[in-house]
Formats: sequence, structure tokens, C-alpha cells
Amino acid sequence: MRLDLKLTGCRALTMDPAHPAAHTIGIWQGRVAGLDEQVADLPAAETVDLGNAVVLPGFIDAHTHLAWNGRRTIDVTGLTTVAQVVERLAQAPGNGWIEASGYDRRIMDRPLTAADLDALGDRPLYLADLSGHACVVNSVVLKQLPGITSDGWLTENEQLAARSLRLPYSLDEIVAELHESARQVLAEGVTMCAEAGIGAGLIASSPLEAAAYQRAQLPIRVQLMVSAHVLHPVDADPADGISRAIDLGLHTGFGDDMLSLGALKLWTDGGMMARTAALTEPYAGSDNAGQLADTEEFMRAAILDGHHAGWQLAIHAIGDRAIDFALDAVAEAQQQRPRHDARHRIEHCGLVRPDQLERIAALGLIPVVQPTFLWAYGDDYSVIMGEKRAPWMYRGRSFLDHGITVAGSSDRPVADGSPLRAIEFMVRRRSSGGRAVGPDEAITVEEAIRAYTLGSAYACRKEHVLGSLTPGKLADLVVLGDDPRTSDAIADIPVLATMVGGNLMAQR
Ligand SMILES: [Zn+2]
Repeated sequence: MRLDLKLTGCRALTMDPAHPAAHTIGIWQGRVAGLDEQVADLPAAETVDLGNAVVLPGFIDAHTHLAWNGRRTIDVTGLTTVAQVVERLAQAPGNGWIEASGYDRRIMDRPLTAADLDALGDRPLYLADLSGHACVVNSVVLKQLPGITSDGWLTENEQLAARSLRLPYSLDEIVAELHESARQVLAEGVTMCAEAGIGAGLIASSPLEAAAYQRAQLPIRVQLMVSAHVLHPVDADPADGISRAIDLGLHTGFGDDMLSLGALKLWTDGGMMARTAALTEPYAGSDNAGQLADTEEFMRAAILDGHHAGWQLAIHAIGDRAIDFALDAVAEAQQQRPRHDARHRIEHCGLVRPDQLERIAALGLIPVVQPTFLWAYGDDYSVIMGEKRAPWMYRGRSFLDHGITVAGSSDRPVADGSPLRAIEFMVRRRSSGGRAVGPDEAITVEEAIRAYTLGSAYACRKEHVLGSLTPGKLADLVVLGDDPRTSDAIADIPVLATMVGGNLMAQR
């Protein structure tokens, strides 16, 4: 046997307990052919000495928004006055919609209104809030939304109504956005992304979204979660027990190793940044306790029907009240029709009361967490949750101690997408402002790496082919300039190279 590639001089942390460290990795036909002595004597078409560099399995980001992330919009990130934002928006080129992002209402001198934006003319204008759960629009847009009374600030369903006025994007536009995102994630060592909800909802781009991924032929692996809003009634044989499905009955698992269908995505509440995450007790210092995203009937039906139709579910639930709802509905679904290894996920799983941990474990649910939310916004979130609840946010240690598999993700572009930054946060639990956020939830470096490799592979039902450098698995790996286990600045470790299926896709 002749290998395609032999990597020597590695300090590989394989994440495979059967062979945890390796200095030589043999690659053949896109897969790991063997490690160390298994391949040491085999000839190879190419041999590369990595000079003792650290090698990890490629990072898997279990929850991203690639099209949204790659979209070129006017960026107002960091601007804090109405005058600054308006001045930046005035630079929008072209004609038609002005699309902007990066607005952070919490840091503004005063909230921006439609009247402020009207000064810019009569092009429809949509400025997305950083949270993804709100936006500001001008009067041109408001006029097209009869029944909505607003000074320009729209959240959740009203935001969705404004958003749908802009849709759809063309396939060519989406393909370009996807390539831009793939370039970014590869540079950070990510080899696979799960796209958190195509086809409908706030972050949808087109009813043909899946076709864009197919056309794009991306250099990373992608799994597509499908919005539960796309489910529609089907006339299947009653013996199948499936009342709603997507066209052709496609569901979780369809596709190949480069592009596949993942979970059915549904939203049960909003987010902490927009104060729309649904809590059992109000946000500190207010009487607002957030809100559920939809009617309970709609959400419950989506969970039951999706479960019955064979989908893995990815249930967006951030506040503890939304998580209660998700737990109850999944328990009901499992009672009606037990599905072993259904592997339903809770996206974000942001505020978990102590009494919810055991239920999450018992139902085999996977929290898909975003550590960089707390790195970026932990100071703010700690204040709005108050002293008692702040330590319950985006847990790590408690999940692992309950035997719960944790999956790492970024929700890019909602927060910084770097897996190394997320890993550093999971270990140190320090916000960018230096605040300790739930320090008791800290986990070890190896556990954090596991969350971003095997854990996220498991959440995407791909652990048999991804997540560790194990002979037979796909040869996705990242080469780092330092060892995260001994580094005291994990987020700053350079990503030297990223390989997907044994092919070099990014190099520093
Ligand atoms: Zn998301």
C-alpha cells in the first residue's frame, strides 16, 4: 500500500482514547490510514515533516449561519451614537435595499429610530441588531408592514415580517456568501459547520437555499438544519405514522460526508441580548421575563411531528422557561414513540437551572453551547441574570458531571467564531472584560477540545467518521503553532494549516 500523504513530526492529540497521541499520521483516499508504527514503514506519494507542530482533529462548529455571516453589509459594529450610525449608513453604495448589521442598542447614546434613518432617503433600510433577534428599519419599510406600530425597532415576529420583504437572495449571491464564510472558518481550523436553519425563519435567504449549498461545492463539510416551518402535511400511509414532512420525505442523515441534512430546527424563544429569551423569573431589575417564540401549539406539534417523522431535533431554547418547554415536549414525544438514540439537541441551552440538569441527561439531549457568547457578552448577561442565575449560564462542568455530551459552536456571526477562543473561554470562564462568568463551570482543555471535535461530531451524528484522528475516519485536521494544553493564551495560538479529507484547504 502506498499512502497519499504521510505527516511526520506531529504532536497529535487524536481525541481517540485507543491511541491518544501520535507523531505520524498516514492518509489515504481522504481518510486516516493509520498512526505511528501502523504506517511508519509504508511508502507515501508525499511526506511532510510538521516540525513538532501540534495536530488536532478539525474543529466542528455545530451551529453557524454561513450565508448570513458571509453577507456583505454595511457594518456599524462598535458605533455608539445615532450620528455615527447614520453617517456610516450614508456610505451605502448602489441602490435598492440598504442592509446593515452590527447594531448594538445597549451601547447607544439613545435608541435609533425610523425617523433618524429617514434622513438617508427613500431606499428601504434594514439594520440588524447584533443579537439576531431584532432590527431597526426606516419608514419606507414600516409603511409596508400594515398592522405593526413601531418607532423602527422590531423584534422577533415583527422583525421576520420586515426581513421577508427583502427576501429572497439569488443563488449566486448565497454561493458567494458561503465561499466567503468557508474561507474564514478554514483559517480558524474549522473543517465542518452545521448551518442552523435553512428554508424559513429569520435567517433564511431563499426557498432554494439547499441548492446554493449544492452548487457552491464548498471546501468544508456542511450539514444543513432545516427549519420546522418547512414541514407540511403529507398523505403518507397511516402505517408510517408520519403526518408532516418536507418534500420527498427527506430527513436527518440524507446526503454524504461533504453535504448532508442535519436536524430539524425550531425556535422556542429569543435571546438574552434582545431580552427575549424566555425565563421563569424576570430579567434582574425589570418585570420582563422574555417570550416564547411561537404559540405552544405550533412548537409542540413541530417537536412531536418531527420526532415521529424520524428527524433529529435541534430546539433553540435559551431561557430556562423555554428549556422547560423543550424538555416537556421531547419527553412527550419519546413517550408516544420511543426512539433510541434520537439525539435531539438543545441549541444554546443558555440558562439551565440546577433541577433541569438531570432531565437533560435522562432525555439524552445534547446542549449545543456558544462559549464565545459569554466571552463577548458575559458582563452584560451576568447583570441581567442577577447573582443567583449568573453561574447557570452556558454551563460546562455541570453538563459533563451529569454525563451529558456537550457540543461546541459559535453561532457565527452572532459571536466570534474562533474555536480556540471558545476553548479558552470554556477553560478560563473569563469574559473579554475580565469578569469571571460561572467559574465553577470551567472544564479542562482536553474536555473543551473534545466538545469542539467529538462532541460536535456526535451532535451532528458524524462521530463514526469525524471528531478524532482514528484510522478509518476522514482525514480532517488542524495544525497549530502551540499546544492548547500548556498555552496560557489559547485564543492567540496561530492556526498554521487546515486539512479536509487529507487536502490542504488553508495555510498560514
Ligand atoms: Zn443561531
